[in-house]
Amino acid sequence: MKNEMKMEFDAISANESFARVAVAAFLSELDPTLEEISDVKTAVSEAVTNAIIHGYDGIEGGRVWIHCRIDQDVLLVEVRDEGHGIEDVDKAMEPMFTTRPELNRSGMGFPFMEAFMDDLEVVSEPGRGTRILMKKKIGCTSWIGDED
Ligand code: ATP
Ligand code: MG
Repeated sequence: MKNEMKMEFDAISANESFARVAVAAFLSELDPTLEEISDVKTAVSEAVTNAIIHGYDGIEGGRVWIHCRIDQDVLLVEVRDEGHGIEDVDKAMEPMFTTRPELNRSGMGFPFMEAFMDDLEVVSEPGRGTRILMKKKIGCTSWIGDED
C-alpha cells in the first residue's frame, strides 16, 4: 500500500490541532490502534508547535509544510518550516534543553517525538529553516509485558 499527501498552512497556533488531526485522518487507512493514533498526534503536534514558536518566534507570516507518506505499514511524516533554523541540533535534541524557558517550555518536544515514533531525524540550517522527519511502523504493538 502506498499513499501520499502534502499540506501547507499558516504558522499560527490555531493550526496545530488541525494539523495533527489531518495527519491522524490520513493514517486511518492503516487501521491504527488508539495508542498509535495518539502517538502520531503528539509527535506531529510537538513538531508543528516548534515550527511556530521557535522557527517563527510565534510571529505571523510564516508557513509550515507537512508531507506524509504511507509505504506498506510505515507512516513517514515530514514537518518543515523556513524559519530561524537550529544552531546545534544535537544539543537541541537533549532532554530538557530549551532556548525559551521564559515561555515555560520544558525542552521535551524532541524527546517525545523520539519516544512516540520509531525514527526521528532533524535537518536544520540556521537562517534557512528546519525539517523534522519521523517514521512509525503501524500495527506492531507488542503485548503488555513483552520486552521487545
Ligand atoms: P517543549 O517542546 O517541551 O515545550 P521546547 O520546544 O523548547 O520545549 P523541544 O521541542 O525539545 O523543546 O525543542 C528544543 C529546542 O530546539 C527549542 O527550545 C528550540 O531552541 C529548538 N527548536 C526546535 N524546533 C525548532 C524549529 N522548528 N526551529 C527553530 N528552533 C527549533
Ligand atoms: Mg517543543
